[in-house]
Amino acid sequence: MLLKIMIILVLILLSYSILPTYYYKSQHKLTKKNKQVAKVLYLTFDDGPDEKYTPCLLDLLKKYNIKATFFMVAKFAKENPIIVNRIKEEGHYIGLHSVEHKNALFQSRSYTSYDFGESIKIMEELGVSVKYYRPPWGHCNIFTNKEVKKHNMRKVLWDVMAQDWKENTTSDIICDKLLRRSKNGSIICLHDGRGKNEAPSRTIKALEKAIPIWKKEGYEFLIMEDYYE
Ligand SMILES: [Zn+2]
Repeated sequence: MLLKIMIILVLILLSYSILPTYYYKSQHKLTKKNKQVAKVLYLTFDDGPDEKYTPCLLDLLKKYNIKATFFMVAKFAKENPIIVNRIKEEGHYIGLHSVEHKNALFQSRSYTSYDFGESIKIMEELGVSVKYYRPPWGHCNIFTNKEVKKHNMRKVLWDVMAQDWKENTTSDIICDKLLRRSKNGSIICLHDGRGKNEAPSRTIKALEKAIPIWKKEGYEFLIMEDYYE
């Protein structure tokens, strides 16, 4: 009789709390594991838009259905409104990379203020509200952060560079650096404008090789807006 009561009590306890506890624990582990398994990369492109290279890059991103973030030089955006529109229409994200790519280290307070005010105005005229700012060369002066805050923006740097702007590099070297240096969650900084000796063409060629490899490894590509959520 006592044994029967004991067995019933154990069964009640098992179904009431022990089993559900283990069930929720295992579910939690699954969610956590799934989160870790999700592999993401953030492709970002500085120094454009460029009338020659940016459309080729957009074709490549379209081919693989990848969204990226373009940190634009406002002056170049103003010169290429059709490309800016295409970038928007194809679901990419646009950030700011100064008005004319001057190094903030050597700029006065009034120029820094002009740099932000003028570039934001140009982007707004193009129908783009910019929330993320990447300083040219990553350089700031003591007024840069004030301007970033004043305009309710956020400063974004990078985790991975592949020195794709260099005139003596090759697409293979760039691709190799990209694959070796990128890991889950990396913000990758590349260039679709400026650069020496047709540099962006090597960047695009490097991506033609790297993207299928990343895709095979299970990487997904997100835009900067997804980063801080
Ligand atoms: Zn730049």
